[in-house]
Amino acid sequence: MNIRFNHSELFAISFAALLAVTGCQSSHESCCSMSGCSMTASAAVSAVQSKDSQAAMTPDAALAELKAGNARFVAGQPLHRDLPAQVKATASGQYPYAVVLSCLDSRQPIELVLDQGVGDIFSARVAGNILDDDILGSMEFACKVSGAKLIAVIGHSNCGAIKGAIDDVDLGNLTGLLTKIKPAMDAVPADVQPRTTKNYTFVNAVSEANVRLVMQQIRERSPILRAMLDSGQIGLVGGMYDLATGKVQFYDK
Ligand SMILES: [Zn+2]
Repeated sequence: MNIRFNHSELFAISFAALLAVTGCQSSHESCCSMSGCSMTASAAVSAVQSKDSQAAMTPDAALAELKAGNARFVAGQPLHRDLPAQVKATASGQYPYAVVLSCLDSRQPIELVLDQGVGDIFSARVAGNILDDDILGSMEFACKVSGAKLIAVIGHSNCGAIKGAIDDVDLGNLTGLLTKIKPAMDAVPADVQPRTTKNYTFVNAVSEANVRLVMQQIRERSPILRAMLDSGQIGLVGGMYDLATGKVQFYDK
């Protein structure tokens, strides 16, 4: 069975599932009037993004979805999903609404921290969330070919790759990767001192500068994506994930 819903239907189903998960605590009366409080795990979200829901999505709406998902994650109230059903429903096609570039770090599992299901987002992960031609090509595929409406670049606090760049680590193929991060160090104002990995403020400032530089590079290095951004077909947003709180702070300028 291949069931797909439009965006509003997906939201309604998600809301119903959330009520089931929370035991109707926040809306007991209305929940029971709707369901007789008989909702169980069978009400898990099995709907997935469809061609229609993707087409109806705007860049701003896509960002709102990511923000809402992170808010659910931080609150400990992720949607209750029927993942095997979502696997079946996406087997014949995918219509993700965003592409997210984030770090390799095990503490930032991006679909979890943004509370996304199967088929919701494209995900590219690499140490230091750096950009290279292959990732840029992947973003072009995601947006131009597959219809994603938003590119999100999400760094994180206390990033080991950023620290490696600051410490000038020299290790095999990692050396070349860290070289891509070093321009971000120069982008941090000179009055942020000391400029060492012992300074949490400096490390995180470099992480944020790195996200902003990657955002700039996406626009500069991809005529395809630049044209889509300029026409408003897609959006571009940066963000920082806080390892201590689970919260993503988004910024789009
Ligand atoms: Zn990292």
